[in-house]
Amino acid sequence: MAENLKLYINGEWMDSSHPEKQEILNPANQEVIAIAPKATKEETEKAIQIAKETFESGIWSERTPRERAKVLLQIAEKMEEHLDELAELEMKNNGKTLREAQSDAADAAHTFRYYAGLLNQPNGQTYQTAEDMETKIVKEPMGVAGLIVPWNFPLLMSIWKVAPALAAGNSIILKPAEITPVTAAKVFELMDQTDLPKGVANLLMGSGSVVGQTIAESHDVDIVSFTGSTGVGRSIMQAATGNLKKVSLELGGKSPNIIFDDAELETAVDYALFGIFMGAGQVCSSGSRILVQEGIYDEFVAKYVEKAKAIKVGPGHDESSQMGAIVSKKHMENILEYIRIGQEEGAVLACGGRRIERDGMEQGFFIEPTVFTDVSGDMRIVREEIFGPVVTIQKFEDEEEAIHTANDTEFGLAGAVFSKDQNKAMRVINKVRAGITWVNSYHLSYVQAPWGGYKQSGIGRSLGTYGLDEYQETKQINVSLDPKPIHFF
Ligand code: NAD
Repeated sequence: MAENLKLYINGEWMDSSHPEKQEILNPANQEVIAIAPKATKEETEKAIQIAKETFESGIWSERTPRERAKVLLQIAEKMEEHLDELAELEMKNNGKTLREAQSDAADAAHTFRYYAGLLNQPNGQTYQTAEDMETKIVKEPMGVAGLIVPWNFPLLMSIWKVAPALAAGNSIILKPAEITPVTAAKVFELMDQTDLPKGVANLLMGSGSVVGQTIAESHDVDIVSFTGSTGVGRSIMQAATGNLKKVSLELGGKSPNIIFDDAELETAVDYALFGIFMGAGQVCSSGSRILVQEGIYDEFVAKYVEKAKAIKVGPGHDESSQMGAIVSKKHMENILEYIRIGQEEGAVLACGGRRIERDGMEQGFFIEPTVFTDVSGDMRIVREEIFGPVVTIQKFEDEEEAIHTANDTEFGLAGAVFSKDQNKAMRVINKVRAGITWVNSYHLSYVQAPWGGYKQSGIGRSLGTYGLDEYQETKQINVSLDPKPIHFF
């Protein structure tokens, strides 16, 4: 029986008054795994009011860092006790493989531990600003944080926001993507079993146009932190102008992976596969544009295509599956449309390109790992984010051309360089206009390091100390050491 999910407002689970429900599917077989409510505008406003009142009560916002850290550690512990269940739910809801879901669940729990640790670090600064003046710089919570997340990493993207926002002392409203609310609901069930005060964390399932828009427009929300597409990010920014709330955006990408003639070929091929086919390419930082220097281009393409063809696509629960499903029928159709456009534009389809409907995948949304060669920089498949298992390979002549092609995009999320020449690798990576970069590696990411993009890939940074800063106000307190009249008037 599919579980009926509920909204979580003020520490209570409740049904929505909205008559419509959302069927939550397993994209590997279209089995209905849960039924989710669709919160109304009124319910969203109610959750915002609860979050505001809870914040103002000081029950969480004024707790000591040590007390807040204790609760974050309780949440981490609860998640760790349920890692297998969280991974299983994530796999079923998103379609990713079990090994990917397990790694996400472990990283999510660790994120709470990391922010609990950060709360016990020295905080703030003091300057001697004048002979008789000391200026203290302190950090304070912002208030109500609206957290809006996408479907590609439903658990991890939620926790990348929830953990620092709570650590900072805010009250929160989390809105998962319509089609992937299952693991967020499980985490809230676990948080409900900790000492987190009621009303601090609220969960609203529902549509972007109602719940997301209401959060973005509300004058009682102090920060909206959004991860998702660049188009929706833009509309959130506009909606946020009413009260000039802080806006933090983690958006799309079309990231270059630059491979020089002198790269360690096997390593470069391996990471270039991982860079796009992990998560079936539904990863914002995917290395979806591979740029290869002309001296090894043919050899690289031959090896790459051979290995891409050998990737075993299959349902997440099958241990032999190396690449899982596409999240929904609609998204699968978008990707197939891009593959059609690529062929129409004259790119060479070196492998893949089709939906897979055999070997137990008949009911699921699976696409072959797809590689296009002979592409040019003006093609849509090179310029637009496809967000699927589709990669383009371009040839370049020298360092200058590599840098120019890498940066010839409206995005700036990620990028990588492969070369045995460290000096060249550093020269080039320093010129790549992107926030998340690698040298002789790809995709590996760490909670300590800031995550976010240049250009139209976003505003602000998640994770690390930067992630905590996103959810804090900064105040200066000037303390006179010699209080006496200034006699200005
Ligand atoms: P999306 O923008 O369609 O939706 C993301 C979230 O926004 C969902 O919860 C959705 O309900 C909500 N939403 C939709 N319309 C809204 C509106 N008008 N106001 C407020 N909220 C609204 O994105 P998606 O399809 O779920 O995810 C894929 C996109 O996310 C890709 O572009 C990808 O690059 C990006 N992404 C970026 C990062 C990053 O860290 N930069 C990480 C993951 C995904």
